[in-house]
Amino acid sequence: MKTLAAVLRAVCTERPYGKSKPMQLEEVELGAPRAGELLVRIEAAGVCHSDVSVVDGSRVRPLPMALGHEAAGVVEEIGSAVRDVKVGDHVVLTFVPSCGTCAECSSGRPALCTPAAVANGAGQLLHGSSQITGKGGERIHHHLGISAFARHAVIARESAVVVPKDVPLQTAALFGCAVLTGAGAVLNTASVRPGQSVAIFGLGGVGLASVMGALVANAWPIIAVDPVAAKRDLAMQLGATAVFAPEEAEKGVKDMTGGGAEVTFEAAGVPAVLEAAFRAARRGGLTVAMGLPHPSRTVSLQALAFAGLGQALSGSYMGSSAPQRDIPRYLALWKAGRMPVDRLQSASLPLEKINEAFEYLAAGTAVRQVLLPHS
Ligand SMILES: [Zn+2]
Ligand SMILES: [Zn+2]
Repeated sequence: MKTLAAVLRAVCTERPYGKSKPMQLEEVELGAPRAGELLVRIEAAGVCHSDVSVVDGSRVRPLPMALGHEAAGVVEEIGSAVRDVKVGDHVVLTFVPSCGTCAECSSGRPALCTPAAVANGAGQLLHGSSQITGKGGERIHHHLGISAFARHAVIARESAVVVPKDVPLQTAALFGCAVLTGAGAVLNTASVRPGQSVAIFGLGGVGLASVMGALVANAWPIIAVDPVAAKRDLAMQLGATAVFAPEEAEKGVKDMTGGGAEVTFEAAGVPAVLEAAFRAARRGGLTVAMGLPHPSRTVSLQALAFAGLGQALSGSYMGSSAPQRDIPRYLALWKAGRMPVDRLQSASLPLEKINEAFEYLAAGTAVRQVLLPHS
């Protein structure tokens, strides 16, 4: 079938993106779902910093690529061998299509699934080559098994989590990346306990989801750090107990916690922010890195802090989540009013505004913008 998708053909660092227009909406051909695949009508797709990172080249991906990895929609067609998803089901898409049987999946770490990582790195689907074809038969790569800035997507069944139909799809979309990553880092990677002190550096969609996760975990205090005042205000509304601008953060966190927070989180993708988060952790503390800087970037940390102060550093990909378990759990918390994820949505825009949306995010003025491909 034919559909409309936002395609990136070359890395672009020229801004504003509203002028340089790195992505073009193109009519593409989507293959019919093969065994184990679904055709999904995309109703809402969130713009995430990892999308911007593909555009500016800090996430190195094969091009051309149809971008977008945080979305929700309605199943329109199922391939053979799909037994547990029906036409008409509402689904949240997840950017690691965990196979369920590899060594990582079998050891309880589906976010690190090896076949999913290989397929995602190659811009393919879990069960085979790309299903997106451009003019003249040109192969267009999938972004993280999805390619959601489009009216429709063909995905592996493993990329979908069926969700209740009473959740608005604009809200549901945000659970696929921002919430899984941010709340998951708190609840899965760090297993924050009631009363533990936490500090969260970087208040985009992911960092603000960490604030919500920390509130659910009954952490105290919950300290949030960002250069943008409006994001600090939103963090306070979502459950942070104190906020700081970056230049005041290290002293502020240490004063408030008697020497440093027990767990600190980095959600900016900037090495200097990870270093700051590490310095704000206390003796015996844990620092969790969620951001995705360019592979050439390195960090500089006090070597003595590991053995001498018992500090630890951990990475967290997709919040160490098991999406089929965690998305329904977080949706239940949302429904109960305990995780107001809809507050992360700063705007909804038609798909045609994709380059402008990328500019707002890159400039730091937007939290989570949701693109509506059928508006
Ligand atoms: Zn994302
Ligand atoms: Zn696996």
